[in-house]
Amino acid sequence: MRGVRRIALFGATGSIGASALDVIARHPDRYRATVLAAGTQVEALIELCRVHRPEHAVIADEAAFPTLRDGLRDAGLATQAHAGMAAMAQLAASDACDTVIAAIVGAAGLPSTLAAACAGKRLLLANKESLVLAGELLMREVAASGSTLVPIDSEHNAIFQCLPEGRCGEGVAKIILTASGGPFRGRRRDELATVTPAQAVAHPKWSMGPKISVDSATLMNKGLEVIEAHHLFGLPGERIEVLVHPQSLVHSFVEFVDGSTLAQLGLPDMRTTLAVGLAWPERVASGVAGLDLVAQGGALTFEPPDLDAFPCLRLAFHALSAGGTAPALLNALNEEAVSAFLQGRIGFLAIPALVEDGLAALPSTRAESLDVLHAADEAARRYARTAISRLN
Ligand code: NAD
Ligand code: MG
Repeated sequence: MRGVRRIALFGATGSIGASALDVIARHPDRYRATVLAAGTQVEALIELCRVHRPEHAVIADEAAFPTLRDGLRDAGLATQAHAGMAAMAQLAASDACDTVIAAIVGAAGLPSTLAAACAGKRLLLANKESLVLAGELLMREVAASGSTLVPIDSEHNAIFQCLPEGRCGEGVAKIILTASGGPFRGRRRDELATVTPAQAVAHPKWSMGPKISVDSATLMNKGLEVIEAHHLFGLPGERIEVLVHPQSLVHSFVEFVDGSTLAQLGLPDMRTTLAVGLAWPERVASGVAGLDLVAQGGALTFEPPDLDAFPCLRLAFHALSAGGTAPALLNALNEEAVSAFLQGRIGFLAIPALVEDGLAALPSTRAESLDVLHAADEAARRYARTAISRLN
């Protein structure tokens, strides 16, 4: 009899976190959430602990530790309370789990993701920013530890499903990432100057956290995904293409050298992706219905991305070909710009402008170590904060 898999969920209070817990709860005979972790939402974390009864709960915000500890105690739970990023990394590598779902948003996810990779855990990787920031290092650790990495990004998960070996062999000509085009598809650049955060996060097809929703609206999300695909599947940027597909039903394509193209299709619901990651190479129910293409409108359409209106995609391709610390700079500049946009401090078009200016102003160097990458990340954040305060 197979044992119950013990799952640590980093980013439990987020959108991916909710989808993951939904799938896990459908299969108590197979999966159990043993570690739940969140950034600052301590009350939401306690509530999740009441329902899922993990062995450990971690809050990144150390000031929230007493609230977490007392809340768990008052709820009569045996769940142990922890706080801080170091505790997260420690739990990711510990016997408390054999599987880690990395669903923290942003570069903040890197320490726990890297710890899971080094410890050889099955790694369900939603936190794409950690691959953009430190992809070579992370993939090296995955290979060295023998960890099984399943991408939890619908496009990369689709490609993973089309490639039984998980990586591109000789037979692969290119991969084609699909993009919904986001809420502003079809608009010209000058029409984007006055769009609001509320409009930007109203994604037409996917329900997601605020940061990735803004990234989808600028197409930076697709840019980050191009870099993510490069690391996951070992292809150069020239063999990664992007195709806008507004129905979001074809999640990506792999084209082989013999003229054959494979795609994976499904409703836009991350529970499918998470079920693939949890059960691979088996399959389990995810709660997502099968695809009825006629009911979905009967048409699948495709168009090229508009790089004039959405220059972030071009900037990401550029950072990938520049290499070294350029992707780390791109990611940190974007995180700071998106955060300022969501706070109403800068306009939508300032996001690509800030990333472009920052990439031009900051030197990109070889990325030999985590220290070098962290230094680049910090330099980019300093640059962005100064630029943002000048805009105000
Ligand atoms: P979200 O904003 O809904 O949730 C983010 C989670 O991260 C929350 O639980 C939050 O508490 C936690 N968090 C934030 N900062 C933290 C910190 N410093 N330390 C510890 N935890 C912290 O975001 P999301 O939409 O669930 O996205 C999570 C990740 O998954 C992102 O990297 C995103 O790009 C990726 N992703 C999401 C989707 C989706 O459908 N939502 C699809 C593909 C990839
Ligand atoms: Mg995606």
